[in-house]
Amino acid sequence: DLQLVWFRNDLRTLDNTALSAAAQRGPVIGVFLATREQWRRHQHGAAKIEFIHRGVRALSDALDALNIPLLYRDIGDFSQAPQALEEIVREHDVTTLHFNREYPLDERQRDAAVSEHLHQAGITVHDYTDHIAFEPGELLTGQGDYYKVFTPFAKAWHQRVTAEQLALRDTPACQSALTLTRNAIPALPDADRSDRVDAHTWVAGQDAAADKLERFLDARARRYATDRDFPSLAGTSELSAYLATGMISHRQCLQAVMANNGGHLADGDAGLKSWASELIWREFYQHVAVGFPYICQHQPFQSHTAKLKWRHSDPDFNAWCEGKTGFPLVDAAMRQLVATGWMHNRLRMLTAMFLSKHLLLDWRRGEAFFMAHLVDGDFASNNGGWQWAASTGTDAAPYFRIFNPITQSERFDPKAEFIAHWVPELADLPIKSRHQPSASERRATGYPQAIVDHKRARQRALDAFKELD
Ligand code: FAD
Repeated sequence: DLQLVWFRNDLRTLDNTALSAAAQRGPVIGVFLATREQWRRHQHGAAKIEFIHRGVRALSDALDALNIPLLYRDIGDFSQAPQALEEIVREHDVTTLHFNREYPLDERQRDAAVSEHLHQAGITVHDYTDHIAFEPGELLTGQGDYYKVFTPFAKAWHQRVTAEQLALRDTPACQSALTLTRNAIPALPDADRSDRVDAHTWVAGQDAAADKLERFLDARARRYATDRDFPSLAGTSELSAYLATGMISHRQCLQAVMANNGGHLADGDAGLKSWASELIWREFYQHVAVGFPYICQHQPFQSHTAKLKWRHSDPDFNAWCEGKTGFPLVDAAMRQLVATGWMHNRLRMLTAMFLSKHLLLDWRRGEAFFMAHLVDGDFASNNGGWQWAASTGTDAAPYFRIFNPITQSERFDPKAEFIAHWVPELADLPIKSRHQPSASERRATGYPQAIVDHKRARQRALDAFKELD
């Protein structure tokens, strides 16, 4: 009986639940459906689309080595998926479709439509928990609600997780060659090409991901708890794009932590356990997307904040996007994002807070801008991060705790090295001035004057939030 595996955000043959289960039942073929119109509607930018495209090519090669042909269809948007899959199923006499679940609302609706359509056509459909350890709904509070706060969620996660949930799934053995051959994957249209994202930094595919994980564990993981906050140290794994597209699984990451940490996730080495905890944050936000699906429709998690009177200012928004706010670390971060498709977590928090608090601009504009530029864009993590910074979300930063961008700069980029790299016009100034150039230094270097005054901007944000009470 021929089995069809539909690959989506799981572009790997290693530790892939759907693929592993399918291969136990019979010969397998795979399919990837490119949905560029949908991705555009979801604001995915060229960086991410190109990374996926390279990832699909790498997946096709990895599958080919197992004699599993990968079919490739360009179908526009999610609404075309049921029909496209039915055609493949009929053409090749497939009996069963397998896929790993995804959690944002549009993806869940797509999958429900596919399952119903294929059931009616007499095809068996199996879907699996793969991206995270617990299926949303399995990990609830004592009152039976979804968690709204990370810490108790993480505690419950550690208490309840089983070895089986984290065990690596079998990689299929090489199967006998089928008569069907894989599809060539067409080149991307120009509109989806990105010259921004360095293909050497972001080499696509599961092998590159595994190498990156190994290098991180060898060199940086044990220092992660301290180094992770300093953007100039490259102290984090830079695996986010691989996790977001499934070129590596969270199980592979957590198993590697345990192998290096005496079998522990919550204890042992400070760096390793703190890194494992970030992977649980990732899982938390996936659960939030299912428990509170209105966040997938541009609504704030905390409904009372829907009334907040955000400002409208295109010049301010553009200055933020272009890295010309006159706050050096904010600008360095925004320039890093636009130039490379990636930004350090500390700086994502800082720039998101700057947009939503100092500029009092709607966080949804920033969320969309991040999505359009990130190579690791992931709806749940991006939305979660933005709503945290804007104090509209789960675990929200209390609205009165507003980062001072200069203090943050002195604390997390103490030698202003990150600033010197990304804002080169300030590189020749003394360290102190790189954090906060004087008016004359700004004039001499062509670096913009600050577009807001920290204290006044802070007060304006506090007033806007107080109005909600
Ligand atoms: P590491 O520090 O090595 O962490 C390991 C992995 O844990 C990451 O790859 C990621 O999968 C996960 N992780 C780490 N921190 C978080 C977090 N706070 N929330 C959820 N998962 C986390 N992450 C994305 O993957 N995609 C996004 O679109 C995204 N948007 C964000 C937007 C904002 C405003 C904020 C504040 C954070 C966002 N994050 C996002 C979370 C985090 O910034 C990135 O995951 C991290 O910077 C990626 O770098 P890394 O792989 O080196 O992380």
